[in-house]
Amino acid sequence: MSCSPLALYLHVPFCDGKCPYCDFYSLSADDSVMDRYVTAMQKALAHWGAALSRPVHSVYLGGGTPSQLGPQRLLRLLQAVFRSFSVLPSAEVTMEANPTRDLSEIWAAASAGGVNRASIGLQSSNPKELQLLGRRHTAEQAFDAVKQARKAGIHNVSLDLMLALPGQGEREIGASVSFCQQCRADHVSAYLLKIEEGTPFARQRENMTLPDDDRAADLYLFACDTLEKSGYRQYEISNFAHPGREGQHNLTYWRDEEYLGLGPGAHSFLENRRFYYPRDLSAFLRGDRPIEDGNGGTLEECIMLGLRLREGLTQEKLTARYGEEGKTAYARMSKRAIPYQKAGLMQPVTGRLALTPKGFLVSNELISELLL
Ligand code: SF4
Repeated sequence: MSCSPLALYLHVPFCDGKCPYCDFYSLSADDSVMDRYVTAMQKALAHWGAALSRPVHSVYLGGGTPSQLGPQRLLRLLQAVFRSFSVLPSAEVTMEANPTRDLSEIWAAASAGGVNRASIGLQSSNPKELQLLGRRHTAEQAFDAVKQARKAGIHNVSLDLMLALPGQGEREIGASVSFCQQCRADHVSAYLLKIEEGTPFARQRENMTLPDDDRAADLYLFACDTLEKSGYRQYEISNFAHPGREGQHNLTYWRDEEYLGLGPGAHSFLENRRFYYPRDLSAFLRGDRPIEDGNGGTLEECIMLGLRLREGLTQEKLTARYGEEGKTAYARMSKRAIPYQKAGLMQPVTGRLALTPKGFLVSNELISELLL
């Protein structure tokens, strides 16, 4: 059994309303349900902490909206994390929050509980776009949330943006990126709007003037360029950071390293097994065990995830992990990469296979071609 450090994710499935584009597992809940959730999570943490006995290099409270728990429950949850696992002193401990209300007390509790990184759902600085997305906050509230986080001692801040919204142009994206700079955000995640089946947006799709694929691609490339010029270096398809502020937790996923996910809807990859807790709060409150989801960590999976990163893949990495099979796969992909490097879809470097922003736009097709 391995004793190397792993990443720990806790899914907090509560929101004070549902955004019409969202298909994350989240619901509204009253105090008693959130109390029971924290108790169930304490038990799960104690169980897994004892069973694995492994240190943790990053903790991520995602959702949902973890800030919805309120300061006392949040502190109980964080104390359970640190009691159950040996969290390394250098660990990145992130909490997501939505700026729908004053977060001063939440950040104070989070900071006291060990949180050192805030991820705030801004999505846009434009009031019309926020309204269209059904967001329940203003850009000013997001600005205040950043200030409050820093005041509480949480200095590493990430903001989320959404791209390719109906009616959005370069001007709006430029303004949102400037807003992130004004907030002195260290990190920006910028996702293309995807219409997920089963959401209100999917039902309204016919009435929405969404940009077509070419226009969405132009907006994405504009965002990548503007973020780079603003000091945010792209390190993954949708993630940009000041040097040294890359999200360590999510890098674990893309580097195909091990993580434990607890909470309804959370996925895990441990000792080459994948398993998950179903999107069912009642099952989690009952203490139901996670469901097996087959083997993970295959060569193909490692290539698919690794090519999401700007650092891409090296022969050394594939050989160290998969031996001769990895070395052969790298050599084969290097040959196949030549026309894509010439076409500007892959970086024209030797010793490394990596996509360009243009290549990220067609990453699925491109990676399939390389893997053929
Ligand atoms: S706040 Fe986040 S998790 Fe909650 S409904 Fe909106 S997008 Fe989904």
